[in-house]
Amino acid sequence: MNFKSKPCPRIAIAGGGITGLACAKALLRRGADVTVFESGIAGRGALRASGGMLAGGFECAEGSASPAFAELARQGMALWADWAADMGVTRIGYRVGGIVSPARDSAGLEWLDGMAERADKLDIPYKRASRMPDGICARSAIEFPEDGELDNRLLGPRLVAFVREAGGQIHEHKAVTHLSPEGYGIQVETVADRSVFDAVILAAGADGQALNDIEPALKAIRPVKGQMLSLQGEKGSLAFCLRARNAYVSQKPDGRFVIGASSEPGKSDTDVDEAAIAMLRNNAEEWLPALEGLPLSESWAGVRPGTLDGLPILGSGALPGIFLALGLYRNGVLLAPAIGELIADTIFSGKPSPQEFRAARFSPR
Ligand SMILES: Cc1cc2nc3c(=O)[nH]c(=O)nc-3n(C[C@H](O)[C@H](O)[C@H](O)COP(=O)(O)OP(=O)(O)OC[C@H]3O[C@@H](n4cnc5c(N)ncnc54)[C@H](O)[C@@H]3O)c2cc1C
Repeated sequence: MNFKSKPCPRIAIAGGGITGLACAKALLRRGADVTVFESGIAGRGALRASGGMLAGGFECAEGSASPAFAELARQGMALWADWAADMGVTRIGYRVGGIVSPARDSAGLEWLDGMAERADKLDIPYKRASRMPDGICARSAIEFPEDGELDNRLLGPRLVAFVREAGGQIHEHKAVTHLSPEGYGIQVETVADRSVFDAVILAAGADGQALNDIEPALKAIRPVKGQMLSLQGEKGSLAFCLRARNAYVSQKPDGRFVIGASSEPGKSDTDVDEAAIAMLRNNAEEWLPALEGLPLSESWAGVRPGTLDGLPILGSGALPGIFLALGLYRNGVLLAPAIGELIADTIFSGKPSPQEFRAARFSPR
């Protein structure tokens, strides 16, 4: 479908997490009439539970990112500067202080070597630390100087307000329960009513199974639970984000040290397990001894929307008029601005998403 000739298409978005809101932001800028349906409270979802890291360099160097994923991450990083300008750098706690990955044993040093090798291949900027950054207890480290972070708890409500100010409608506590083709559009049924839109974007995170009769790609979504904690510290005491193999630490503008995260595939509950939290805390304190003794402010769990192959599902859905922005797994904050643009390009110009992100990869032959 191509809406070039339609000046103000009516577009519905199922899911008001960061992905749905990012799509709304990009579509509103292109003149669409946007309605977001959110089953709970918009701007929360996995965003609220997340670490808020914008780890484009680290994520691509640590995993074996394909060129298409690396390009998406690069776009996400670049567009975050614009988003921060749009929403206010301090209002969302955005900063580019770099991510430092430390190591102290031979396995850790090998991990750093592997990252350096992949960073070279993908042309990702990084530096081998010549001396340990202040406060880190390690033998060696790599820094990804262009990586950043934000305060996700500030971002959620700010993004909701931004979308509303730009003319988007956001309906909370209004789950989409069914979708069906209707003339040239798609009928959206919610718990309360039904209406017809020119297009619908599914951005339901790990939680959209109720709609998988109409969109089979939802069957490829796999939840990955993550537990985290925060400690209350002095504001401004950590200038970068620490990302070790067994824990990460990001300090937010109010002084909280956010420490993450467990990775529990297949789990979608948000129960917190004291032993998992204690282990994360202990791991973080070994890297940053200054954290010892700080009061615990909170512990929580969230659910990452993973997929069978770990890659996002982006672009056209099974039926004309349905578009997919799903499976952002552990990088949905980083990638959100790029996903919004990609989906808007697909809807407005018919530009296909990169092949490896298309839903068709899960279809039986
Ligand atoms: C512990 C943890 C740490 C993380 N840390 C980072 C990080 O540091 N950096 C990073 O980039 N990413 C991180 N992530 C990943 C990131 O948070 C997610 O990828 C991202 O938030 C996913 O956003 P989403 O909007 O796609 O899904 P969700 O946040 O799950 O949002 C989907 C929304 O859709 C709603 N919904 C579901 N079904 C329906 C329906 N039928 N109708 C209407 N609404 C519906 C849900 O209520 C929800 O609000 C982390 C995630 C976790 C859990």
